[in-house]
Amino acid sequence: MTTFLGMPARAPRGVGHLRGDEPFPVAARTALADPQLRRNLNHATTTIRGKSGRVIAELPDWQELRSAGSALKAHTMANLPALLEQLEAAVTAAGGVVHWAADANEANRIVTELVQATGEQRVIKVKSMATQEIGLNEALEEAGITPVETDLAELIVQLGDDKPSHILVPAIHRNRAEIREIFLRAMPGVDPSLTDDPPRLAGAARQYLRQTFLSTRVAVSGANFGIAETGTLAVVESEGNGRMCLTLPDTLITVMGIEKVVPAWQDLEVFLQLLPRASTGERMNPYTSMWTGVTPGDGPQNFHLVLLDNGRSAVLADEVGRQALHCIRCSACLNVCPVYQRTGGHAYGSVYPGPIGAVLSPQLTGVADNASLPYASSLCGACFDACPVKIDIPAILVHLRNETPHPRSEAAMMAAAAYIMKHPRLYARAQRAAKLARLVGRRGRGLPPPLNGWSASRDLPAPPPQTFRDWWAKR
Ligand code: SF4
Repeated sequence: MTTFLGMPARAPRGVGHLRGDEPFPVAARTALADPQLRRNLNHATTTIRGKSGRVIAELPDWQELRSAGSALKAHTMANLPALLEQLEAAVTAAGGVVHWAADANEANRIVTELVQATGEQRVIKVKSMATQEIGLNEALEEAGITPVETDLAELIVQLGDDKPSHILVPAIHRNRAEIREIFLRAMPGVDPSLTDDPPRLAGAARQYLRQTFLSTRVAVSGANFGIAETGTLAVVESEGNGRMCLTLPDTLITVMGIEKVVPAWQDLEVFLQLLPRASTGERMNPYTSMWTGVTPGDGPQNFHLVLLDNGRSAVLADEVGRQALHCIRCSACLNVCPVYQRTGGHAYGSVYPGPIGAVLSPQLTGVADNASLPYASSLCGACFDACPVKIDIPAILVHLRNETPHPRSEAAMMAAAAYIMKHPRLYARAQRAAKLARLVGRRGRGLPPPLNGWSASRDLPAPPPQTFRDWWAKR
């Protein structure tokens, strides 16, 4: 018997954070007008890229590791129903309880009811993209339960009443002066003489969080990996806050996207080498926490695993697009993307920004609800080169563009080009005109309207001295 994952449904509207309020070009314009944002982004992405590049260069078999990661993910997607059943059986045998959530509404309801059953009014949270995706914090707050983010960057975002703008560094758009101001305004019990010295900022957060860790009995986490073979869940993080959340409370609730399952323990050998080097530029994750069900007298005594679909089955049904489910959320593609580096994450409108967001969000929601995102790319291919599991993001972008109405200007240009190419004389004249325009453009005036936007910030390539037609005619 196999698990039937159900008719592929998209992530529902009106809940969670997969859709923006405005299309990407409009939101990007607002972001581009903020020079401080660009400075913060440029500094942070350049630093992470440099660190990551240095530790990747240490591994002679990096390309082989990437291929292994890619093959493991493809194998997992091809066997997802069986692996999820295996995971469920192993978690249950180890004393955990598995819940299946078809979408964000169901997942939020399950988690809220589980917390209510404990009688607690507050939960501590480990950084989790899945719970951001479904809008769990809002659902808990509506039920009178206070969620406290314990990852430093997530805490900055939560206290600032802000939205995350990077997968790994959610507060990448904030500098330390802004963080100090947020702490002074919103952190309970903060020392009013707090400076913007990073160790002092971290110390203030540590003091606030420590009391919360010690007095909260329910934790909510995501998971980087769920091992089907043993029912073990794994979370990797850098601050130790995750370890506190995963070990101190009585009840632990983990929300995991169904694509995070891996077949066997041994597979972590590959992913735990790829992930830290590609994400934070470290050789090993500072904290890798793993747990299997419940261990009497040690750690949480109640463990619930919520397996979340929320559009993933629909992504899996698309033979080209399903590669997006291979993502291990390292954020390397964001740090190399020329579009992300200028606009930041908010312009994408979804919790998944950058190149991976441009292919994952439209597929989870249905392309019509995020139609501008597949165009939020120059198709330069840097994301593909950087991806530790070799996701061919440019190919998925092009595939999704074919499912969306092309921008009017592009459609008109393509129609004109098709017409000209069908008429040889017109084509020859157009070639001569293009050569002339490029010669004029290169003398400093750029292309004439409506193409002047293209040449406003680029040098036009030099026209070839001879076209193929000229060469052919001479022979
Ligand atoms: S698509 Fe690749 S590079 Fe981008 S976040 Fe996912 S794993 Fe990392």
